[in-house]
Amino acid sequence: MNLILFGPPGAGKGTQGALLAERLGIPRIATGDLLREALRQGTPLGQQARAYMDAGDLVPDDVILGMVREALDSEAARRGAIFDGFPRTLAQAEALDDLLRAMGRDVDAVLVLEVPDDVIVKRLSGRRTCSRCSAVYNIYFDPPRTADACDRCGGVLVARPDDNEETVRRRLEVFREQTEPVLAHYQRTGRPVIRVAGDRPVPEVQAALEHALDAVARKTVA
Ligand code: ADP
Ligand code: AMP
Repeated sequence: MNLILFGPPGAGKGTQGALLAERLGIPRIATGDLLREALRQGTPLGQQARAYMDAGDLVPDDVILGMVREALDSEAARRGAIFDGFPRTLAQAEALDDLLRAMGRDVDAVLVLEVPDDVIVKRLSGRRTCSRCSAVYNIYFDPPRTADACDRCGGVLVARPDDNEETVRRRLEVFREQTEPVLAHYQRTGRPVIRVAGDRPVPEVQAALEHALDAVARKTVA
């Protein structure tokens, strides 16, 4: 299956994407994670992306598409993938269509997580990520057992530099202006676009997504 997890920053794409990836046995391709890894390693790509990310703006399409092409080439992704935070522009969506078509594949469904802006601002101000294993917590909604330490590996938990309120507002603006219109592309081209209320506990959102996917699978088989 090739799925797109769609939604504003902080909607829960990473949280749900990790659960879905485990359930379906296919990798999650998260362009934000790939960019942060490039930054951490100090690669030229990471250096090129830094200013855009710090400002809450989109990194240029060619940079993103190079990364996605490489990720899709991997052995792990040969049975499908869950795209998280990608595509974010119409050009990226069209390029993904071409890439998948060349592999004899298609986007099977777009799962849209809907969360109101005030909830997003609160979630992102409370997001903490493990600097060692990248596990994600929330000091309000899903706190670690020990403050500032990862339950799984003991690594130090840090806030993302772009999760400050000013940058979050900019990221929301960019989402509304450049990313949300991408949904029309999927509707126009007949791919299932399924909206799920994301402002409820993680297991409830997870169950709603799995329910939606079962319906897609039944239609694909029928
Ligand atoms: P995204 O990948 O869409 O930016 P994340 O999955 O990183 O979003 O979630 C953003 C923050 O909100 C994280 O701190 C996460 O722990 C928290 N979170 C995710 N899903 C929920 C939920 N259903 N209810 C409350 N908090 C959530
Ligand atoms: P995320 O981890 O998805 O919240 O992304 C963090 C930042 O990385 C964004 O604010 C953008 O600057 C950049 N980014 C991630 N994915 C993309 C993408 N598909 N297109 C453009 N920029 C991206």
